[in-house]
Amino acid sequence: MCASIARSMRYMGSRCGSPGPVGNNGRVTSRTTTRAVRLDQVCADAVGVARGAITEVDPADVGDHLEAVPEGDRTVTHFFESFLAGYQGWRWAVTVTRVPRSRHVTVCETVLLPGPDALLAPGWVPWNERVQPGDLGVGDLMPTAPDDDRLTPGYVLSDDAAVEEVSWELGLGRSRVMSQEGRMETAQRWYDGEAGPEAAISTAAPRNARCGTCGFYLPLAGAMRPMFGVCGNLYAPDDGRAVSADHGCGAHSEALLSTPEPQPVDELPTVYDDSEVESVAVSRGHGSVESGEPAEDYGHS
Ligand code: SF4
Repeated sequence: MCASIARSMRYMGSRCGSPGPVGNNGRVTSRTTTRAVRLDQVCADAVGVARGAITEVDPADVGDHLEAVPEGDRTVTHFFESFLAGYQGWRWAVTVTRVPRSRHVTVCETVLLPGPDALLAPGWVPWNERVQPGDLGVGDLMPTAPDDDRLTPGYVLSDDAAVEEVSWELGLGRSRVMSQEGRMETAQRWYDGEAGPEAAISTAAPRNARCGTCGFYLPLAGAMRPMFGVCGNLYAPDDGRAVSADHGCGAHSEALLSTPEPQPVDELPTVYDDSEVESVAVSRGHGSVESGEPAEDYGHS
């Protein structure tokens, strides 16, 4: 039991006082017994009566008698093959019964029921169970059920210290906050997915490049803090997403490029002869010839 719940219970105990000894109230519900239902032979023998009750279809659509199943005292359901088009594997079911000490059998109901090999439509699934993560689009609304286990009323003391602190200090708080069950389920989902240590980008990263030691790792507040944070590295694929402390990537803040050792290079000896000086005209002003010199031949390139 967590400390906050224990605290709440102590508080309630001091307000309400001791409940006193609890006595034995005795049995409050009647004893129920289950016994196997016996097949009533008179009803089981009434195959003709049951077959005659299937009146709304062509007699050719009713096949052989399959079985007689006891439903209760003097009540039996007879099953017949069905050849009704579109109902492969279905069976006619006719329930018959009789009153005590009478051999007169009467029909209760006649229905068409799916057999064990019947071709059936898939079971109906409510929309909120069909929705998958990522289905919510821009402008879509997805109401959360009032009894969603992932949430708990905000006035209930949470075992998340950060949630308690905010709601009690401000006196406001949200109407519902995440329950412990919701947080556990979320943490497990994150950990098992792309934010966890087994994600491809994480396993391919250097062993020491873990988010918990990365300067871009922003730890979450509250109960999730020891295990999760948000990546704040612009260049990391997980930028802006929750990541586990043992997730990692190659953009870790302390990742360094290894610099190769400098290799010696063979140098040729260079010989300078500075005893001889040669004058070289490096500029003649604009144009190809000096003023007063004959012009160059046409076609000069
Ligand atoms: S940069 Fe990489 S190692 Fe650093 S927090 Fe982001 S995902 Fe984790």
